[in-house]
Amino acid sequence: MDKNPVITVVGSINMDLVTLTDKVPQMGETLMGTKFQTNPGGKGANQAVAAARLGVHVKMIGCVGKDQFGTELLHHLQNQGIDTAHVEQVEDRTGIATIIVSGQDNSIIVVPGANDHVTGDFVETRRDIIAQSDLLLLQLEIPLEAVRKAAQIAKENGVKVILNPAPIRDLPGELLENIEYLTPNEHEYRLLPSHNEELHKKVILTKGREGVSYYEGNQLVNIPAFNVSAIDTTGAGDSFNGGFAVGLSKGLSLKEACQYGNAVAALSTTRLGAQTGMPTANEVEAFLK
Ligand code: ATP
Repeated sequence: MDKNPVITVVGSINMDLVTLTDKVPQMGETLMGTKFQTNPGGKGANQAVAAARLGVHVKMIGCVGKDQFGTELLHHLQNQGIDTAHVEQVEDRTGIATIIVSGQDNSIIVVPGANDHVTGDFVETRRDIIAQSDLLLLQLEIPLEAVRKAAQIAKENGVKVILNPAPIRDLPGELLENIEYLTPNEHEYRLLPSHNEELHKKVILTKGREGVSYYEGNQLVNIPAFNVSAIDTTGAGDSFNGGFAVGLSKGLSLKEACQYGNAVAALSTTRLGAQTGMPTANEVEAFLK
C-alpha cells in the first residue's frame, strides 16, 4: 500500500453528551448521575477520523453550528489531520447526541441541528472536491437528498462510493445504482429489500465478532473477524468503514480491504470510546504482523 489517496466523507458531525447513571429516570423524575463527558461523534466524523488515523488524506464535507461545540469539533477534526476547509459553520446549533449509559444499556436522542443544513445544493457547491477524490464515504445521518447528490457527482466522475446505510431508511434505486459497496450491519441488512439482486451484489455485511461476508457471484465469502478481547464495541462499525475505505482506496482487493477493515475494527474494540479507540496505520501494521 504505497499510494496516498484522497478520501472524501460527506456526513454528520456531532458532539456526544454522555451521562453515566446507576438508574435511568422515569418521565418527571430527577436523579443524580455518576459522570458526564463530551465526546466528538457523528458517523461521518467518526469514519473520517478512522480513515485519517490510517494515514490517508481525508476531506470532510458537512456543517457544524456557530456555537462552542462547532468550533471545538472543527479544531478536533483538524487535530486529527482532517481537511475541514469544506465544513461550514452555519446559523444553527451543532448536532448533538444525548446518551444515557446505565450498566450495559444505553438510550440515545439525536438532534441533527447543523447536519440538516447539508442539503443537495450545499453538496453541489463542493462538487469539485468529490470529483477529485479517490473514494467517497457516505452514511445516512444527513438529509437523503445530500447523500443522493454526493453519490451522483461521484458516479459522474468515476469515483467509487461506499455507503454505510446507518441509520437505515428506504434507499432510492437511483442512489443504489451510484454506489459500489453498501456496508450494513445485521440489523440494517434485515431491513433492506430482499428481492433486489443488484443491491445484494453490493452488500458487505458486517457481523460483529463473526467478521464480514459478501457474495462473489453466487458464492458467499466470509472474512472472519480477528480474535481479540473486546471491551467496548462502540464505533466498531465506523472503524470498519474507515479501514475498508482506506484499503480499497490504496488498491487492495475486496477481500484484503475487508481483512484490513476487520483489523482496524478489532483493534478499536480493545479500547474505550468510539474515536478514541481508533488505531493508527502503524498499530494496524504491527497487529497484522
Ligand atoms: P457499532 O454500531 O457498535 O459501531 P456495527 O453494529 O455497525 O457496530 P458490527 O457488525 O457489530 O458493526 O461490527 C463491525 C466490525 O467490527 C465487524 O465486522 C468486525 O470486523 C469488528 N468487530 C465487532 N465486534 C468485534 C469483536 N467482538 N471482535 C473482533 N472484531 C469485532
